[in-house]
Amino acid sequence: MKLEIVIAGGGFAGAYCAKTLARALGRESIQRVGLIAEQNVMVFQPMLAEVAGASLSPLDVVNPLRQFCRGVNVFRGQIAEVDLARRRLMLDAGRFTKNTEVEFEHLVLALGSVVDLSRVPGMPEHSLVLKNVGDVLRLRATMINRLEEANLESDRDVWQRLLTFVVVGGGYSGVEMAGQMLDFMQEAKPLYHNLAKAQLRVILVQSGPHLLPEVGKSLGCYAERKLRARGMEIKLNTRVMSMTASRVFFDKGESIETATVLSTVGNAPHPLVVELCRRHGLETYKGRIVTERTMQVKGREWLWAAGDCAAVPMDDKPASPPTAQFAERQGKLLGKNLARSLRQEKPKPFFHRNLGQMASIGHHVAVAEILGMRFSGFIAWWMWRTVYLFKLPGLQRKLKVMVDWTMDLFFPRDISLLLPAPTELLQEVHLEKGDVVFNTGEPAKSFYILKEGRVDLFEGDRLVKSVMAGQHFGERALEGDGVAYFSAMAAEPSTLVSVSEKAYKTLREASEAFRNLLEADGEPERPEARELEPRS
Ligand SMILES: Cc1cc2nc3c(=O)[nH]c(=O)nc-3n(C[C@H](O)[C@H](O)[C@H](O)COP(=O)(O)OP(=O)(O)OC[C@H]3O[C@@H](n4cnc5c(N)ncnc54)[C@H](O)[C@@H]3O)c2cc1C
Repeated sequence: MKLEIVIAGGGFAGAYCAKTLARALGRESIQRVGLIAEQNVMVFQPMLAEVAGASLSPLDVVNPLRQFCRGVNVFRGQIAEVDLARRRLMLDAGRFTKNTEVEFEHLVLALGSVVDLSRVPGMPEHSLVLKNVGDVLRLRATMINRLEEANLESDRDVWQRLLTFVVVGGGYSGVEMAGQMLDFMQEAKPLYHNLAKAQLRVILVQSGPHLLPEVGKSLGCYAERKLRARGMEIKLNTRVMSMTASRVFFDKGESIETATVLSTVGNAPHPLVVELCRRHGLETYKGRIVTERTMQVKGREWLWAAGDCAAVPMDDKPASPPTAQFAERQGKLLGKNLARSLRQEKPKPFFHRNLGQMASIGHHVAVAEILGMRFSGFIAWWMWRTVYLFKLPGLQRKLKVMVDWTMDLFFPRDISLLLPAPTELLQEVHLEKGDVVFNTGEPAKSFYILKEGRVDLFEGDRLVKSVMAGQHFGERALEGDGVAYFSAMAAEPSTLVSVSEKAYKTLREASEAFRNLLEADGEPERPEARELEPRS
């Protein structure tokens, strides 16, 4: 695929860039501009807490990219690699789509940031995170599940563990989420008859001396007072050192028994951007790609970046803040700058005055700092809702949110438990003779154990190995560059056990017996490393 302009990322920066550019280019933009994103929706992250607290439906906070950025060609898929020298990127769109190579003349990096919890032992395995709609639905389902289980439990210790919720991080996301969780649980608990005497604990842990460092000490202290008055426990100047499935350990030797931890810390630079900069010697600031004020990368006028993954200088600072407010404005200007650049005009530098910040802390209370003035309480909460309603893209969404918020004022929150069962790590797969498991060159996603039947591995037309019942295949690609070296086809009706890449790697790391098994009866070596036998 060949496109003049590729926008990588469909968040605030990417989607607004695409929308503005499509307007500037007019009808021809659909042939010239492509937007690539992992999901086919733009997520309005500032409202995710409202979804977790069941004030809003998940569909209220997403916007289909094809509707939002009409006029650009949208492709859903994960960008696996970017080759700046050849101006190409590799797109992995799913199980049934082969790797797609996309050529571009201009590339916009708008990939946002990622969550990395690996610095705290146990945190990646045992805590929930908050990045997209799936995460908040999981959190909401977890809260309801804990209430359901506690309602059945007679052991007081287990009861208390199930009803203790720890939120790590006292910034915006942490405070908003903890406030929503407290509201939701306090409203839902009376519906569980056996929990009448149970104590519900929501504990907010903040490493600094006050909450909400983004809006200053006085509003942070105000939020703390309000949340404490509603029954929240707040631990200031406290760091989480590690966690297990049942306990969180703090730096002062203290620990709390809990079954649910939500981490709102651990924002990290996007690994694709970090790797790209490392490989091409591009300057970074805290892992974000450094750009000129026009959002072009120095020396590469065709490479642009905006939003959380970019360090766009502003005033005397090396980077503007990583917030939706800045990402949206950068995206809009970047769209205009691209159009200017295509017309051989000079792009304009980015400038935006921070309008302020606001956080809703639940129970119709918020704190806000707007144009230097500070507000708190109901008035701030009303302003918070009005501003976000205004900012929400699309009239249809605005109306739906208005209706949901109005209903929320008069009716109880919805405690329906709706979440698909988690994906199985091991799956049985039935194959008829001639069915293809994978083709050479396709992205490798699994390791396979043959339960019954026979699967043949080929390189081109040559038979490399016949895998019989009890044997396995697929490990070489997972160990190598993630691409299948052979094709695999059922030689007779067969049943496979498919093991996800993650489960395979965990097993291999944990078990010597498993490693020995792989060594003893592995797949053939990579094609270039051995002589091939002709297919009989
Ligand atoms: C829970 C939460 C609450 C927040 N609240 C606020 C708030 O109240 N106010 C505020 O100003 N900011 C808030 N933020 C921060 C704000 O959401 C971000 O600053 C903003 O989203 C950054 O925009 P972006 O376009 O740079 O990145 P994002 O919006 O994160 O978009 C990144 C895009 O890149 C795509 N992508 C990533 N990797 C790949 C890949 N390999 N291949 C293809 N696509 C990829 C993603 O799918 C996504 O479409 C909040 C963030 C969170 C998580």
